[in-house]
Amino acid sequence: MHMTRIAFIGLGNMGGGMAANQAKAQHHVRAFDLSAAALDKAAAAGCHPAGSVAEAVADAEVVITMLPAGPHVRGVYGEQVLAHAAKSALLIDCSTIDVDSARVVAGQAKAAGFRFADAPVSGGIMAAEAGTLAFMVGCDADDFPAVEAALAPMSRATIHAGGHGAGQAAKICNNMLLGVSMLGTCEAFALAEKLGLAADRFFEIASKSSGQCWSVSTYCPVPGVGPATPADRAYEGGFATAMMLKDLKLAQEAAAKAGASTPMGAQAEALYALFDANGFGGKDFSAVLQMLRGKIADLN
Ligand code: NAD
Repeated sequence: MHMTRIAFIGLGNMGGGMAANQAKAQHHVRAFDLSAAALDKAAAAGCHPAGSVAEAVADAEVVITMLPAGPHVRGVYGEQVLAHAAKSALLIDCSTIDVDSARVVAGQAKAAGFRFADAPVSGGIMAAEAGTLAFMVGCDADDFPAVEAALAPMSRATIHAGGHGAGQAAKICNNMLLGVSMLGTCEAFALAEKLGLAADRFFEIASKSSGQCWSVSTYCPVPGVGPATPADRAYEGGFATAMMLKDLKLAQEAAAKAGASTPMGAQAEALYALFDANGFGGKDFSAVLQMLRGKIADLN
């Protein structure tokens, strides 16, 4: 396989594992993070530490970023990547950020002569380490094959969502749907309990009836019911409430700007904000069941 020179910026919980998989695929990875500890970890995984973004991207064929939020992405591209990378470099931002920031950065990159893609991921830290993330990509159709090839060592599926920003749009629409469906699932299990219906019976019935959805069948929030989930390990690991809340906020911001009516998404944001404010931002998002059952104290 052709060895590609990759610059990887942002080596946190997700980026660390992703960069390691690029190195494992025999690519030459120049890595940079503001955190020295993250940089040391990447070096141990076969990446070559750089002293700055400018140094990391200088001779890169592909630049991949995995940063916390929109302002970081705007800053890193606007102030550093676009000034120091070769125009032939393919730029791919895998962070989950607001649609507007993705479009602004894409516009700046294009105006400067670069190819750019927003490519947020579905899947958590374990999938990042295993190289089994799903990528939803917003980019020019002509650029998609190159983006797909560059993401392959980190991916189990890469889907072209549309033009610039469409990857971020897909990500927040999917996660808004997930937040709403999880809350609906939790409410239904809480009501079933009050009505004296056993959780395992309701699981079996709902899994085969029209209430069936991923939150019921694959990620059941009730401990001991259905396949193993974070509910079975005290809601540790999995998809943190704080992360779900971040995505729901992005969805509400986007909805407000686009003039879309998303009352269920707004309610989901409010409920996850309440759960987070009670100190449970680190718990898996399915733990909200315990708040709806009136048993939030059991989580402590
Ligand atoms: P993280 O905070 O662990 O990692 C972000 C890294 O970026 C940190 O190491 C930080 O030091 C670095 N960084 C910040 N500003 C920088 C700069 N200017 N230059 C270089 N490095 C900089 O976050 P994470 O969990 O890895 O998440 C990254 C992105 O992926 C977020 O947008 C998140 O929403 C998204 N995401 C996370 C998960 C998850 O389960 N953690 C799942 C899907 C998507």
